[in-house]
Amino acid sequence: MKALIAWWDEAGIPLDDPIVRPRPSRASAPAQAARLTPTPQPRPARGEREAASAPAPATAAAARAAGFGQVQSEGPSAQELAAKADTLDALKSQIEAFEGCALKRTARNTVFSRGSRDARVMIVGEAPGKDEDEQGHPFAGQAGQLLDRMLASIGLGPDEVYISNILNWRPTGNRTPTQEEVELCLPFIERHIALKSPDILVLAGGIAAQALLRSPTGILRLRGQWHDYAVKAADGSEAGRTIPALAMYHPSYLLKRSPDKQHAWQDLLQLEQKIA
Ligand code: URA
Repeated sequence: MKALIAWWDEAGIPLDDPIVRPRPSRASAPAQAARLTPTPQPRPARGEREAASAPAPATAAAARAAGFGQVQSEGPSAQELAAKADTLDALKSQIEAFEGCALKRTARNTVFSRGSRDARVMIVGEAPGKDEDEQGHPFAGQAGQLLDRMLASIGLGPDEVYISNILNWRPTGNRTPTQEEVELCLPFIERHIALKSPDILVLAGGIAAQALLRSPTGILRLRGQWHDYAVKAADGSEAGRTIPALAMYHPSYLLKRSPDKQHAWQDLLQLEQKIA
């Protein structure tokens, strides 16, 4: 209950009528879009690129030129390793054996998942940060605490969800992953979703939503909607089934943009309805 009240308070929801009338945003849609459209500025940290519609630097050369470290393609590819895994434990081992992503060299831990493997809801975030790298599981820091409060507000405890990330290694300095890093590692999270086989997916943030929905559309437009995530077979082709996927703002973004917690609350209500 405390978590629920704390979250309502943070989301600016009137405590006397939180469910029926989440307080509408005061800004008109165009004004809000303008407010959320980033003006040119230094590359934001992870979870803050919510309003952007274009993915991160497209090529290894661009990434290197921008000082984002090397992306490698040594040894078996992520797709080859992911295809060998028939269980979540086997997938974890295959990811730990992958030498094709330079992020692994600077990371302390391979961050795989947290939560219950039996959970109906699987949440996919962006990438581990400092806390996650140190502790070895996703959403271990401030963003994770907010995520837990958000979920608690619709009655979901930490053991009623299963959480992973697009990337299993921390990008140095908590920077946003490059598009190439995302593409390189995508077969792992796709296999992860296929093996976990949740009833419902929640895509936390623009990087997760754009990568898994294979969409160039920004999170501003993707959030608050149910999408069909196309489950992948072991070889990476479409398996022929879909999972309902709700895109939401990333908790790291919400930590910095409190007014948008109202939208997140509306999205949570959609999730609550779906799992009822
Ligand atoms: N942000 C993410 O996207 N994932 C984490 O695990 C932590 C913060």
